[in-house]
Amino acid sequence: MSRNDCATGALLPLDAALQRILADVTPLPRQERLPLKAALGRVLFQPVIAGMPLPPFANSAMDGYALRAADAAAAGITPLEVIGTSWAGSPFPGRIAPGQCVRIFTGAMLPEGADTIVIQEAVSTSGSGIQLHGPVQPRQHIRLAGEELAVGAPALAQGKRLGPADLALLASLGQAEVTVYAKPRVAVLSTGDELRAVGTPLAAGQIYDSNRYALHGLLSECGAVALDLGTVADDAQALKAALLEAAAMADIVLTSGGMSVGEADFVTGVLAQIGRINFWNIAVKPGKPMAYGRIGQSCFFGLPGNPVAVLVSFRQLVRPALDQLEGATPQAPLRFSARCRLALPKTKGRQEFLRGLMQRDDDGQWWVEAFSAQGSHLLTGMSRANCLIVRPADCPGVAAGARVEVEPLGT
Ligand code: AMP
Ligand code: MG
Repeated sequence: MSRNDCATGALLPLDAALQRILADVTPLPRQERLPLKAALGRVLFQPVIAGMPLPPFANSAMDGYALRAADAAAAGITPLEVIGTSWAGSPFPGRIAPGQCVRIFTGAMLPEGADTIVIQEAVSTSGSGIQLHGPVQPRQHIRLAGEELAVGAPALAQGKRLGPADLALLASLGQAEVTVYAKPRVAVLSTGDELRAVGTPLAAGQIYDSNRYALHGLLSECGAVALDLGTVADDAQALKAALLEAAAMADIVLTSGGMSVGEADFVTGVLAQIGRINFWNIAVKPGKPMAYGRIGQSCFFGLPGNPVAVLVSFRQLVRPALDQLEGATPQAPLRFSARCRLALPKTKGRQEFLRGLMQRDDDGQWWVEAFSAQGSHLLTGMSRANCLIVRPADCPGVAAGARVEVEPLGT
C-alpha cells in the first residue's frame, strides 16, 4: 500500500498491519551474558542443553522404606530388617541384601540394591524391623536419574522468555549464567505545541504530556530500555532533527501525536523525507492515525496522540514488534469469550477496542461490562478497566447476555 492509498481512505486492518510489522522486524544481533537472577524476563539467545541429568540420581518421591520388590512379591505380611537411613543429602553408604530395607526420605538417594519404595503409612514397625503387606510392585515412588532430562536433551529453546520456572530449571542444571538477547532500546518522543512537562505551570490551552508516562510504563513492563527524548513542537524542522537523533540511538523510535487529520502529513511527511513509510492509518478504534516505517536501521512507530489510543496500539502492534526484536516469538494477546451485561451497538469499518470491567459470577461465568463513556482521551476509563472488549469491524449489534471477546489487561 502506498501512502496515497491510505490518504484516499483505505484503512489497513490490524492483522495486516501486524503482519507487515513482523515481516519487517528482525531480532537484534546483540547478546549479553548475565547471572541467573538478572536474566528474569529476558530472552534466551541460544538453546540450553542439559549438561547433567535431571534428576541427577535415582531418589525417593516419598518418605518410607527402600527395599527389593522381590522380597515382598507375594501376598501377605513380609518382615524386613532396617539396616540404616538414607537422608536427603546424606545417602546410605551400603547395599541392601535380601530381607533388608533402608529408611528413606523424600529426595534421598536410592540405596544400592533397592528397586522400590514403600510409603511409611503402609508399614508397621517392630523393634529394628518393619512389617509390610505384599505384594509390592517394583519402581514405586522412585524418580529415576535422567527421567526428566537426559544429558544432551534440549532443556530450553532459543527465544524463550525466561520466567521464574525457567530460572529454577537453569539453576537445577547447575547453570549460574545465561546468554540472552540485549534489551531493545526505544526512544520516546511526544509531539504537540500544547504539551508541557509535569512539574511546570500550564498556560491557557496547554495540557500535560501524559503519553510519555504511559509509554515509559509499557516499555518497562516489556523489559525494553526507554529513552525519554521529551517533547517536540509541531515544527517539521524540529521534528526532523529529533527523529534523526532518536534513530541514531535507538532500535525503535516511538512518537505520539501529530497524526490526526490535517496534521497527518506532518509526522508522515517528515518520515517520508528521512526514512521510509510502510503504512499509515489502520482500521482500528481507537488508534486509526498510526504509521509504521523505518528511519535508517531503526523501526519507527508514529502512534496516535490520544492517550487511550496510545495504550491500545502499543499492546496490539508495538509489543509484538518488541518481542520479535528481542528474539522471542510474539505472543498473541490472551483473549476469551465472556457474556456482555449490556447491549452493544454495531461497529462500522474499524475493529473496536472498548474499555470495560470483567467479573466472574458465582457459577463461574465471565461477564463483561463496557463503560458508557468510551472517548479515546479518557484515561480514567483506561485506568479503571481490567479488560478490553474486542469487536470485529462491521459487526452487528450485540444483545445483552450475548458473547463477546475480551482481552484481559495486566497480562
Ligand atoms: P494529535 O494527534 O497530535 O492531534 O493529538 C490528538 C489528541 O491527543 C489531542 O487532544 C492532543 O492534545 C492529545 N495528545 C497528543 N499528545 C499527547 C501527549 N503526549 N499527552 C497527552 N495528550 C496528548
Ligand atoms: Mg498534536
